[in-house]
Amino acid sequence: MSSDTDHIPSVMYDNTKAISYKKGRYFGKGGFAKCYEIIRDNDKQSFAGKIISKNLIVKQNQKEKMTQEIQIHSRLNHQHIVEFFGFFEDHDNIYIVLELCKRRSMMELYKRRQVITEPETRYYMNQIVSGVHYLHSHRIIHRDLKLGNLFLNDNVQVKIGDFGLAAKIEFDGERKRTLCGTPNYIAPEILSKQGHSFEVDIWSLGCIMYTLMVGRPPFETSSLKETYAKIKKCDYKFTIALSPTAKHMIMIMLQSDPSQRPKISKLSHHDFFKGYCPASLPVSCLTMAPRFD
Ligand code: ADP
Repeated sequence: MSSDTDHIPSVMYDNTKAISYKKGRYFGKGGFAKCYEIIRDNDKQSFAGKIISKNLIVKQNQKEKMTQEIQIHSRLNHQHIVEFFGFFEDHDNIYIVLELCKRRSMMELYKRRQVITEPETRYYMNQIVSGVHYLHSHRIIHRDLKLGNLFLNDNVQVKIGDFGLAAKIEFDGERKRTLCGTPNYIAPEILSKQGHSFEVDIWSLGCIMYTLMVGRPPFETSSLKETYAKIKKCDYKFTIALSPTAKHMIMIMLQSDPSQRPKISKLSHHDFFKGYCPASLPVSCLTMAPRFD
């Protein structure tokens, strides 16, 4: 019933900048946020407005998480990261103004296509790895890389978004001990609470690449408990034939021991990336397999 108690006005006013935005179409909702297209009044430019009702963030740690997300995301600037334009608030809500990704996320692509071709995987992984390389070189761990957080713009370019679980590594060798939330492609060292760092993102990238090429997530079962047991044993199989380099790249990312996984800088030079990679993809690829000839 939360929609009845939320007050999202049809005009939102950022009084720090004296700019107003008109509410456009509804995009979807996440844990706390609702997302709408918002149109800036002075130049009619469209953005994604992530709107969080203050009624929903009452606990101190929820406020801290919100501040953390804004702090981290607002400092990032890269072609494969959802651009952060600003935030403001009124009596009822907090508004985050983001780059609009009209083609939704790779989750919808996956649901439509199930399995994508190797050149497409190379195209997407190239962009994702480049975004994660930027994050890690700025000491940010995303901690929830998943298809639904890989947004797509009108040119079918990947934009990594949702920094709600992200963390900053404050000193060399720091291991994070806590994570408030449940990442989708959760790494074994998070489950066993051993302390974790950048390697958890590499694990998630392995899960993403496997899912896109095999057509289902590597540790999927009918219950979370069984899935977690499989993750802890690194118990997955390749159920369809992949090229040797694709298989190798997935295998090195999906290793139980985090120290054995490649660093993001090394991953971008993997042999898998030496194969054919299209410079761009047509929008039709979101629903139909392309022909590369
Ligand atoms: P939460 O942090 O609460 O989980 P999300 O970041 O997942 O919120 O956003 C909720 C929904 O809003 C997403 O499922 C997606 O449909 C939509 N969304 C989020 N960011 C954008 C964006 N930049 N462009 C377009 N849609 C977006």
